[in-house]
Amino acid sequence: MFDLQAIIDDIYRELEPQRGLGKVADYIPQLARVDARRFGLAIVTVEGQAYVAGDADTAFSIQSISKVFNLTLALGKFGEAIWRRVGREPSGSAFNSIVQLEQEGGKPRNPFINAGAIAVTDLMLAGHTPREVIGEFVRFVRSLADDETIVIDHEVAASEAATGFRNAALANFMKSFGKLDQPVEHVLGVYFHHCALAMSCRQLAKSGLFLANNGRNPMTGHSVVSPQRARRINALMLTCGHYDGSGDFAYQVGLPGKSGVGGGILAVAPGKASIAVWSPGLNDNGNSALGSKALEMLAQRTGWSVFGS
Ligand code: GLN
Repeated sequence: MFDLQAIIDDIYRELEPQRGLGKVADYIPQLARVDARRFGLAIVTVEGQAYVAGDADTAFSIQSISKVFNLTLALGKFGEAIWRRVGREPSGSAFNSIVQLEQEGGKPRNPFINAGAIAVTDLMLAGHTPREVIGEFVRFVRSLADDETIVIDHEVAASEAATGFRNAALANFMKSFGKLDQPVEHVLGVYFHHCALAMSCRQLAKSGLFLANNGRNPMTGHSVVSPQRARRINALMLTCGHYDGSGDFAYQVGLPGKSGVGGGILAVAPGKASIAVWSPGLNDNGNSALGSKALEMLAQRTGWSVFGS
């Protein structure tokens, strides 16, 4: 086995001069305040060994990475029935696009675009209050990461609620098609709180480890999902995790991954490790610019791409 600490240190050092690359998301005012030069990396192997570099222990807003955890919970509750509410094809359009929704009768393409996560959140609310659903979500992520200190940043949630006109449009649009059962305000409130979960790269890498290890978290011993389900979630991350940048991410990095507009990316090297990177500046598709580069370098140096070394 190669020296992962040396690899991650090298990547950090080589990319450090480019810290600040990309454009920080400013449509959520609270995110615009984050220092663009932050840069963290964490790898946790299926043996439970952690390797970190840079700002790996600073919590940031995980944003759309939360969609992976929400989907995992929803699959656990409703199983394959969720595919009646949301598709599993790449969208080829932006994370907050409304165009496709109209053409396809209000059924979102996949659970990782905003409309899809909103549909999944609607399902999770069946028979529960928003508070219960948010509580369950936080407890779930804490158990995955084996870390009780993980919390929601309520200022980020409030900031997004105050400016989330696009998401409100998506939710209202779906509601008009009869595709949401719960009140729009409830669904959006829960969705914004999920997105506002604050985690560090180290915590995020730990929480994604079950996906790298056939559904079982090797550090806690918990079986989170079946091997088949882990494989399927990884497939969705690979095909849909970076919106209309998913093809390019597969080409450059070759790992299942999920990005968030906070600048984080969670990537999974099946059988090997879970990886989290954070750099707030985004590329044109809303994915971390430097984070994508770091993962490309890591995949190259480890040979971990799922398509071969
Ligand atoms: N909370 C963000 C939004 O709904 C999440 C988007 C993202 O991370 N791509 O706009």
